[in-house]
Amino acid sequence: MSAVLVVVAHPDDEVLGCGGTMARLAQEGRSVHLLVLADGVGARHVDGHTDARVMDEQRRRRVALTAASQVLGVQSVDTADFPDNRMDTVAVLDVARRVEQAIAAHRPTMVLTHHAGDVNQDHRRTHEAVIAACRPQPGHPVDTLLFFEVASSTEWQVPGAAPVFQPSWFVDTSSTITKQLEALSCYAEELRPWPHPRSAEALRARAAWRGATVGVEAAEAFMLGRRLVRG
Ligand SMILES: [Zn+2]
Repeated sequence: MSAVLVVVAHPDDEVLGCGGTMARLAQEGRSVHLLVLADGVGARHVDGHTDARVMDEQRRRRVALTAASQVLGVQSVDTADFPDNRMDTVAVLDVARRVEQAIAAHRPTMVLTHHAGDVNQDHRRTHEAVIAACRPQPGHPVDTLLFFEVASSTEWQVPGAAPVFQPSWFVDTSSTITKQLEALSCYAEELRPWPHPRSAEALRARAAWRGATVGVEAAEAFMLGRRLVRG
């Protein structure tokens, strides 16, 4: 079975964006690999906190990433150390090289990543880097490129500022929404009380709405970036 690569900016984006789909693909026997480009911690503690506290938070986030990945059935987790909330200061090429390394290592046919229109700059830089790393040159393994939505980033964009998320690809996650919620609970520190979009209730509500959009109990929505049907 062909491999799948999920590329995200921060630990927890994978669960919020495509956790139900990752669990489903893993259940179907696909090898799901995850690349996380920043630690999700750094910029929130630039001032007023000791390095030890930052390191402790980074460690807890890493533990959560590992636990959530086990729940979803992820085969490998790779992390890079690009500056959190400052990935727009890094050249796209440098980030793309890191993505290219993961593609060379796993030879995925499917890549899932952030949407271009997210409010979060790290998400946008990640998207750009994946596009660069997935240029469809001869022999490139990726034939399906998909972009997901991440709560409190994709829907928080304002009109006219960036491309709109208009899903064109849906995955029925009725059988894996429970696993997705379990994986989300590993990131308890990142969650906020309902009605914040970064809550279990919001994840459940979005899955129900995306499901209703296409006539199933629960779904995740994607925009198709590119699909190659090979000869
Ligand atoms: Zn993020």
